[in-house]
Amino acid sequence: MKQSPQGWLKDLPGGNEPPPASRDRKMAHFCRKRKKTMEVQLMARQFSDKEAVTRNEPEDPSNRESGRAFTPLDVLVVGAGPTGLVMASELLRRGISCRLIDQKDGPSTTSRALGMQSRTLELFEQMGIITPILEHALKLWETYVYGPDGKLQMRMNWQALPQVPYPYQLVVAQAHSESVLREYLKEQGGQVEWQRELVELSQDEQEVTARVKSENGTTFEVIHARYVIGCDGAHSFVRKSQGISFEGSVMEADFWLADAQLKWERPQRHAYVWSHQEGLFSVMPLPFDQQWRLFAHIPRRSEAPEEVTLERFREVFTRRTGELGTVICKATWLSNFHIHQRMVTRYRQGRVFLAGDAAHIHSPTGGQGLNTGIQDAYNLAWKLALVLGKQGKESLLETYESERLPVAQSVLKATGAGTALQYAQHPVVKKVVSPLLSRLIQLPAIQRKIALASSELLINYRPSPLSHGREQRPPSGGKRWQKPVSLRKVQAGDRAPQATFLDASSQTPRTVFQLFQQGVIHLLLFTGLHVRISETVRTTALARLVCAQWHDLIVPHLVFAGKEQPSWLQWSGSLLLDVDHEVHSAYGMQAPALCLLRPDGYIGMISKRFDEYTLFEYLRTFFVTQRL
Ligand SMILES: Cc1cc2nc3c(=O)[nH]c(=O)nc-3n(C[C@H](O)[C@H](O)[C@H](O)COP(=O)(O)OP(=O)(O)OC[C@H]3O[C@@H](n4cnc5c(N)ncnc54)[C@H](O)[C@@H]3O)c2cc1C
Repeated sequence: MKQSPQGWLKDLPGGNEPPPASRDRKMAHFCRKRKKTMEVQLMARQFSDKEAVTRNEPEDPSNRESGRAFTPLDVLVVGAGPTGLVMASELLRRGISCRLIDQKDGPSTTSRALGMQSRTLELFEQMGIITPILEHALKLWETYVYGPDGKLQMRMNWQALPQVPYPYQLVVAQAHSESVLREYLKEQGGQVEWQRELVELSQDEQEVTARVKSENGTTFEVIHARYVIGCDGAHSFVRKSQGISFEGSVMEADFWLADAQLKWERPQRHAYVWSHQEGLFSVMPLPFDQQWRLFAHIPRRSEAPEEVTLERFREVFTRRTGELGTVICKATWLSNFHIHQRMVTRYRQGRVFLAGDAAHIHSPTGGQGLNTGIQDAYNLAWKLALVLGKQGKESLLETYESERLPVAQSVLKATGAGTALQYAQHPVVKKVVSPLLSRLIQLPAIQRKIALASSELLINYRPSPLSHGREQRPPSGGKRWQKPVSLRKVQAGDRAPQATFLDASSQTPRTVFQLFQQGVIHLLLFTGLHVRISETVRTTALARLVCAQWHDLIVPHLVFAGKEQPSWLQWSGSLLLDVDHEVHSAYGMQAPALCLLRPDGYIGMISKRFDEYTLFEYLRTFFVTQRL
């Protein structure tokens, strides 16, 4: 039976609002409980490892059948690339027992992905690892594009982003981001188990059973887990084992790549592209002294890929750039690869999920792959943790695919179009379309749009069932996926904007992004710009009710438009003093209103009216009520 908001307020238990200190104790207790399970699991694993090695033969495929004490692992993450590292760390951070295996001997040392987008940097800030990431990175200022005649055709300004915390594209070697992520994993109590290859995977309604080949290749371990997440890259075994197709195409061209030292006069903060009639040649700065990434498009000449040598690179470089005096030496990585555009039709099969390159691969144009994988992991981890912790309902897990699959679709579409134009060999495209586009791209408004689209700041989950409020549903007959063109006028499903406030308890300035470091759901209760006592009392009553029903899950904050707590305000929970109305303005609030922020930094629900009834309906759909 539905209760009216008045009914809830009548039921309000006096003094149910837990002071912040007791909340922290509860969270700590919850995490300790989950860590204990994890320790038991680890002990069980060490025991099974030892036995398998001693016997030096395949382990009994069923621990339970062999009568051994059995505690299933919560999550097995397969693949310790950037996606798997974020996934495992974010699960461990929330007290979920989790193992991360990888078939390789150890960490990769090659640079690979370089472009780190603004939105990923925001997530790194929320994870508390932005400082070490920035330590070995450089900000990309502009890309200079030269036409077939060698003349400067256009400049793309990557700093054309509006006022956001990281208004640029960062260049970071993937080897460095992975090493920062491994440190983060360690801080959460995890580690990568190298030389462990997943070779078999099956599931039933209760669990997933994984057979893993260990270091010497002669012993096997059988791991039982409640869920498995395939972060095992483009050739994903997890994906294949579940019969999930990976449809798409491959470009009819070879691409040569070299990381090398360049001795030339060009500043190491810009990228340079030559669109020569033979094919494109680009040079991107690496965040190490005189180190650059060279990239050459080689229209296919033969079936067998040609071997890439530094000598060949020098020839192509000189021919296409006309830079005769440049010395290219000391290559640290030479490679030859093809560009595939592929993605899965679903992200989940029962208890098995896919994330990162295992679910989508595309051209490196625009630097989106690693960023998209990290954001897949960030989207899934909190949902899975809540479901495993019996705080979230199954409906929450269903939103992973419905939110992330459309993102992959639009990334593939955008990078596919960009790549087709960049590498087009058709004379009309080369002679007419490309020069025209170059002129258009010079316009500041277009530059802003391109920079914003690459930044991934506009990614939103507006059509998701988890988004509630302000025109979140597309009008009938309208586009399925609404693309906002600016970061203003936020709606449910959008990135939660950054804003600064004064924390009343510590009297220190803090930001909304800092709230996300706690990894919980935040409920911002706005008093409105003109504070009215009766409305504010009603707001605090709602906050107490939320505390009573979702005490471990949701932290309510009163966003008070003023510079100090007035004496009439009976509220000892979190009080954000919105002295300059920055928070009200960033979230578009003037009157009393509420806004629910998901742990991954997106807006779950937004309501300009003070709508308690809808809030409780929403919460009950996705979260389990916990009474104190
Ligand atoms: C030249 C180049 C440039 C790029 N530039 C950019 C860029 O600028 N920006 C960007 O965002 N992206 C870029 N990318 C893409 C980016 O590198 C990938 O999207 C990213 O590495 C995907 O991460 P992942 O963790 O999903 O997969 P991966 O990094 O592929 O990691 C998968 C891991 O799974 C392990 N594994 C596989 N099978 C098994 C198994 N059976 N058992 C156990 N372990 C297994 C593998 O050993 C591997 O460590 C670039 C890629 C290339 C090649």
